[in-house]
Amino acid sequence: MGKAAVLTALQAPLEIRDDVEHEAPHAGELKIRLAASGVCHSDMSVQNGTIPLGPPMVLGHEGAGVVEEVGSGVTGFEVGDHVVLTFVPNCQECFFCQRNQGYLCEKSSMQMMGGLLDGTTRMTSQGHALKQMALCGTFSEVAVVPAISAVRIDKDVPLKIAALLGCGVQTGVGAATNTADIRKGDTVAVVGCGGVGLNVVQGARIAGAERIIAIDMNDTKLRLAESFGATDTINASDGDPVAQVQALTGGRGADVAFEVIGLQSTIEQSMAMTRSGGETVLVGVPRLDVNLVFNPAFGAIYTAKTLKGCWYGSSNVNTEIPKLLALYQSGELKLDELISREIKLDEVNEAFDAMKGGEVARSVIVF
Ligand SMILES: [Zn+2]
Ligand SMILES: [Zn+2]
Repeated sequence: MGKAAVLTALQAPLEIRDDVEHEAPHAGELKIRLAASGVCHSDMSVQNGTIPLGPPMVLGHEGAGVVEEVGSGVTGFEVGDHVVLTFVPNCQECFFCQRNQGYLCEKSSMQMMGGLLDGTTRMTSQGHALKQMALCGTFSEVAVVPAISAVRIDKDVPLKIAALLGCGVQTGVGAATNTADIRKGDTVAVVGCGGVGLNVVQGARIAGAERIIAIDMNDTKLRLAESFGATDTINASDGDPVAQVQALTGGRGADVAFEVIGLQSTIEQSMAMTRSGGETVLVGVPRLDVNLVFNPAFGAIYTAKTLKGCWYGSSNVNTEIPKLLALYQSGELKLDELISREIKLDEVNEAFDAMKGGEVARSVIVF
């Protein structure tokens, strides 16, 4: 039996339960004792119903921990291994994995079902099965997950740092280093400087951008963006951000603009602040009623801009996590600075409140 934070009703605080039971791993699965879990905006989106997964569910999808039990047929893991969990596993066998596009892996689409790969779950409480968010459910002391959802890492990496690699870092850094085609000396604009946006900023720096314009309506986030490599900042409440980007770029616009919020207005602004022949990269997850509008469509042809959707930083998790850890160990990738507070599992609802207030980069649950 163990402790977990359970979503029992939409928009209600998570319930901390200490009676959660975990089945032994089935074939192809691992039982993980979690050491740390990040608290991400997507967890809150499930809690408030924006992502329609529904209760009862153990939330949490960016975690790291230690392998406690290995299911039959699993190769490459043993008890005691340290792992990072991912909600976009690569099966290595499907159409997309074979084409080096593991972020589109056919198996990872199972994450929207609330169970593991066979649709069922390994957690129960008070006689009911609990769904596990995104093949994980890391707001829990223990989680049984598909073995392909785990990536083994060196034991000298602190697990609270490793936990960050499963979601926001991979998405943000990958957007700049994998999805976009940033060239040395480029000018990049980043619209939205929350947890993912900060990682786009540092990814752009790593990719060789010379000028990185951070755009947000929150000055605290803009100051933070500077410490991650932004060279210029724009507070969008001080007037049209498109005009401000143009003023900084000789009227041309940015070579690459990243949208990291997901609102109709900021998507349109990001496309407008991209220079002719440049790239707009959509990273922020919009609601389903947000539409892309080219008005007039002529402009899309005449300006020869490229629009790219970015899912999970176009990352293949098994190669990306070692790459990110190497960048961290060489000092190029800032991870310690992303953790604004360490909390206990019981404090997860306060972490949601802090996120709503826009005051934190990341709260990390340390078990
Ligand atoms: Zn996340
Ligand atoms: Zn696959």
